[in-house]
Amino acid sequence: MPDVRQLLADAAARLGDRAEASILLAHALGRSRTWLVAHADDPAAANDVAAFAALVERRAAGEPVAYLTGRRGFWTLELEVTPATLIPRPETELLVELALAKLPRAGAPSVADLGTGSGAIALAIARECPHARVLATDASAAALAVAQRNAAANRIDNVAFVQSDWFAALEGERLDLVVSNPPYIAADDPHLTQADLRFEPASALAAGRDGLDDIRRIVDGAQAHLVPGGWLLFEHGWDQGNAARDLLEAAGFREVFTARDLEQRDRVSGGRRTSQA
Ligand code: GLN
Repeated sequence: MPDVRQLLADAAARLGDRAEASILLAHALGRSRTWLVAHADDPAAANDVAAFAALVERRAAGEPVAYLTGRRGFWTLELEVTPATLIPRPETELLVELALAKLPRAGAPSVADLGTGSGAIALAIARECPHARVLATDASAAALAVAQRNAAANRIDNVAFVQSDWFAALEGERLDLVVSNPPYIAADDPHLTQADLRFEPASALAAGRDGLDDIRRIVDGAQAHLVPGGWLLFEHGWDQGNAARDLLEAAGFREVFTARDLEQRDRVSGGRRTSQA
């Protein structure tokens, strides 16, 4: 029987990544990574060895670690992810930070996260602002089910879930803040056929010829669903800042801006509905 140390060493060599090997071994054994260190000399049971070997081979074939473990950390939350949802990215925390800065402090502001996926953005905002009422939408029922489980598992109860194609099911809603990390990759972008993106839902990644199809729909629909003074904020690609600001200005938004992520790339744009619009 191989011991824990040997299993880890072999997998680290196979994957060329010791951290990933350790995450997968901890998952296969149902233990923490710290446990692995303390139990390096323990022999592993045959069924655990087989389960781990299967995970390592799937990872070697390119499946994202988050789909193999079904977990990903985002903000202060531990989230379930499945192939029905995009895997939350660290750069999306910028959108959460900006949303928190724009959210009215007083009263019970209403927020919508359009295309919530695993629920990452909606749940992070709801966790930080217990006084806010957050609406999380997705066109995918499978994604919404994951987001709902994430709300329950993180004991967050100020989020409601609605199946909706962008604003389609939000008739009559008047929101203080609309946020979204929509699909924004051009349909012919070769990145879609590489790395983790191959395994993620195309509907959460690709958006037409220039990657802006869904952003256009969100910008066009937002004014009618925002209160005067309300904000729209959305994530986009590093080369879409100019286009995003043009769309916002053409739709009548004021105080239009683009914010950069930690890598100094344009990542989030937003604007404010004027009082009389
Ligand atoms: N940021 C992701 C990527 O480029 C894309 C996410 C999205 O389309 N919303 O991998």
